[in-house]
Amino acid sequence: MKLDLDDVAESGFLRCHSRMALIAMEKTAEIVIVGGGIIGASIAFHLAVKGAKGVVLLEKGMLGEGATAKCVGGIRTQFSTEINLRFSLESLKTWDYFEEITGVELGFKKVGYLFLATTTEEWAIFQANVHLQRTFHIPVELLSPEEIRHRWPYLKVDDLQGGTFCPWDGYAGPYEALSGFIKGARRRGVRIYEGTEVQQIFQEKGKIIGVRTSAGDICAPIVINAAGPHAEKVGKMAGVDVPVKPFRRQIFFTGPFPWIADPIPLVIDFHRGWYFRREGQGLLLSGPKDDCPSFNTHVDYDAMVEVAENSTYRVPLTEKAQITRGWAGSYEISPDNHAILGQTPGLTGFFLANGFSGHGFQHSPAVGQAMAALALGEQPFADISSLSLERFRQGRLIQEPLTAFKE
Ligand SMILES: Cc1cc2nc3c(=O)[nH]c(=O)nc-3n(C[C@H](O)[C@H](O)[C@H](O)COP(=O)(O)OP(=O)(O)OC[C@H]3O[C@@H](n4cnc5c(N)ncnc54)[C@H](O)[C@@H]3O)c2cc1C
Repeated sequence: MKLDLDDVAESGFLRCHSRMALIAMEKTAEIVIVGGGIIGASIAFHLAVKGAKGVVLLEKGMLGEGATAKCVGGIRTQFSTEINLRFSLESLKTWDYFEEITGVELGFKKVGYLFLATTTEEWAIFQANVHLQRTFHIPVELLSPEEIRHRWPYLKVDDLQGGTFCPWDGYAGPYEALSGFIKGARRRGVRIYEGTEVQQIFQEKGKIIGVRTSAGDICAPIVINAAGPHAEKVGKMAGVDVPVKPFRRQIFFTGPFPWIADPIPLVIDFHRGWYFRREGQGLLLSGPKDDCPSFNTHVDYDAMVEVAENSTYRVPLTEKAQITRGWAGSYEISPDNHAILGQTPGLTGFFLANGFSGHGFQHSPAVGQAMAALALGEQPFADISSLSLERFRQGRLIQEPLTAFKE
């Protein structure tokens, strides 16, 4: 019987253990990526597309088992800072042609994002955001409460100042995206090992020289930290303080909900920090986000009370909904809710792709491109120096008009 290792690994990237058990791991590499979530996968893919050789991706568990598995797949252009807008627009070029690029169907549902503002302060900031977004030629609409009621009559609007809607926004499948990047990377020669934990990172005279893993040592001049909510721990292995903390976010799902006609946009009640969208025949309802950092990913069924209150307030018809299940995952939050990207100062070869603060899925194509370029000594698609780790030491945190919304 012929065993195709690619097929074995691809078909089971979330379930079965990879080729680690089948092929001995190499002892040297050019680039080691730590973490097999959507970010590590995208970096691997983009390095491979650029022709990089000797790329190894190490995942301590199973590919995609971290934050990526819990992600709700939101993709939007409605951001309030220029750098996030650039990452959204660059990523959209990949999301829009994902199947052509990777051979995997993404299932991108462009239903739009509808942001709702309740206070006059929120509304003023939304208007300023739209002004910024339109300078990037993003077709965002500013809507009065009456216009919102007319288009989406199931929403309560009498307490609203207004809303913004962009038809370019929507959501897609995180597993499909991960699968596309992994498949593309593997086909181009990237070696991917699941069940392989990076335990130490070695350096000599200010330069990275390799890693120790649960399956042996690999000598490599470049190591990329793509460990998601575990970024701080992996940073410490190299003696680098990466200010990224994990915060639980819970999500709930209802049974079939036929009382609202499709397409339903992804609706964000900004004031309440609550959102919902269609999921299969039912609805996906966002639950609370913890205020204290932890790796707790248990579903707290008391949270359903808050979810039900938010849902029935904004969408009274959800009184008919029945919550059937839920899950919880960890956001990887940086001090200014923006990513930390680039080579660490003073340690040649140690690169960070961390702190996406709830936006890592949607920005993963652009992050992969930018990190691949940096690791190969090329210019990224945009000036990303504002996302450097040094900004925290230098007090150059990125300012947002309102605390960032997180999917
Ligand atoms: C509930 C929820 C909803 C979300 N919704 C959205 C959304 O709608 N849109 C959006 O853009 N983003 C969303 N996000 C955020 C998004 O999921 C993350 O930003 C993104 O998945 C981060 O990807 P990552 O690859 O950096 O991290 P992860 O997916 O966590 O991957 C990191 C990997 O590194 C591995 N690892 C850690 N340490 C080691 C080690 N020492 N050795 C080897 N491997 C290691 C882990 O096992 C893990 O698999 C959401 C997050 C949550 C929790």
